[in-house]
Amino acid sequence: MPHPSDETLDLIGAGLAGSLLSILLARRGFEVRLFEARPDLRTHTVDGGRSINLALSARGLHALEHAGIKDDVLPLTIPMRGRLVHDPDGTTHFVPYGQRPSEVIRSVSRAELNRRLMTAAEATGRVRIRFETRCTGIDFPERRLHLRDEARGREETTPTTRVIGCDGAGSAVRMAMQRAGAVRYEPDFIAHGYKELTIPPAPGGGWRIEKDALHIWPRRDFMLIALPNLDGSFTCTLFLRREGRLSFAALTTPENVRSFFEAHFPDAVPLIPRLTEEFFENPVGALGTVRCEPWHLEDAALLLGDAAHAIVPFFGQGMNCAFEDCVTLDACIDEADGDWEQVFTRFGAERKPNADAIATLSLRNFIEMRDRVADPKFLLRKKVEFELERRHPGVFIPAYSMVSFHRIPYAEVLRRSEIQERILDALLSRAASLDEVDWQTADALVREELDPL
Ligand SMILES: Cc1cc2nc3c(=O)[nH]c(=O)nc-3n(C[C@H](O)[C@H](O)[C@H](O)COP(=O)(O)OP(=O)(O)OC[C@H]3O[C@@H](n4cnc5c(N)ncnc54)[C@H](O)[C@@H]3O)c2cc1C
Repeated sequence: MPHPSDETLDLIGAGLAGSLLSILLARRGFEVRLFEARPDLRTHTVDGGRSINLALSARGLHALEHAGIKDDVLPLTIPMRGRLVHDPDGTTHFVPYGQRPSEVIRSVSRAELNRRLMTAAEATGRVRIRFETRCTGIDFPERRLHLRDEARGREETTPTTRVIGCDGAGSAVRMAMQRAGAVRYEPDFIAHGYKELTIPPAPGGGWRIEKDALHIWPRRDFMLIALPNLDGSFTCTLFLRREGRLSFAALTTPENVRSFFEAHFPDAVPLIPRLTEEFFENPVGALGTVRCEPWHLEDAALLLGDAAHAIVPFFGQGMNCAFEDCVTLDACIDEADGDWEQVFTRFGAERKPNADAIATLSLRNFIEMRDRVADPKFLLRKKVEFELERRHPGVFIPAYSMVSFHRIPYAEVLRRSEIQERILDALLSRAASLDEVDWQTADALVREELDPL
């Protein structure tokens, strides 16, 4: 095997996954060229266009720890202990995510996290980030990268040995692999889109609503959520159909927008002073799942993160899953001893079933967030789940906890959560309160159907 420092790896996209992966590769001794289409976030204000803040959970934190930067990132985060549900009449109730003090998810600014990752990557001394350099294609037989210098509007090509596409859902690397006949790709957009709005900090600083929760206004077919930021503001995201009677397309005037919000989110209206202005300034983002296969072309190219498997954001796992990819790729490099085709094949075999599973779980969680959290039966279900977890630790773990507080492979989470749903259905068909649950039957079902983890 050649010494890693003899080899340069080309990564496309210095977003969340590309920046983190470059740190892991540099720590192995590889030289990394990282090409990023946008200007440097650390010196330019770049309108991200997508989700200003994100929920970071166990898998993402583990990856940051693996890269040695968890302690740098933690102070940038705000723990959220559960969902604060806002009913249409303005009353609120709190639904905890977990039942231990450590069971929180953490709101973090995408831009700030990205900046820290890029700085840590450059600090390795082996990662060179070229900003405003867009990959426009790849000539695989000749192994040449086609690039566009966005600042000067100049096209160029450069020889490459290996390319890793970390360039997000609209990946140019994936497109080049498709053109080479190597990848089958299936986009799957949902009918809903999203738009971001802002709750500014309280006068004099501080947060206008509880800062240690993810706020949610579930309205069956659509919903509004808000995640806290360190500066006292909240970023709200409205998820709504793109077309139809109640949709973004139907909200065409400031009056329409204001009456829509007053009808459905009355307590949110006074919190968003620039509601109508922001509504028309900010774009409607599309949401969907990227399914493609295989994720590599021989030993020449690999897709990772959203480029391979973008998912809808309703489980808050896209970044967490992309970070978990980075850790898995690092392990595959260890195991395959310099055979890159084997590294890429192992990576796909390990991650694809898990990416498919979290894609399914994320689509299902949209129904839970926009509809079921408002239902009293859902609250009872959560209580029964927690009680079963107390009675059967390490055996029955609520699905949300398996995804967010553990690193159980997503495919196993999907398998176990389907069994658990059946157990809960059986118990709750005969109980209207926690006292009415038949715990003997519950214990027997858990022992029969679930193996210990
Ligand atoms: C509304 C919303 C909310 C979300 N909330 C969460 C959440 O709470 N938790 C969570 O874990 N995930 C969340 N996600 C998902 C998360 O944003 C993504 O999964 C994550 O950003 C994927 O990281 P990535 O590095 O693969 O792609 P990206 O973050 O998209 O980065 C890709 C990078 O590649 C660059 N690029 C693109 N094309 C090129 C090119 N041709 N040449 C060079 N560079 C290029 C881009 O500029 C960008 O910097 C959310 C997503 C959305 C849309």
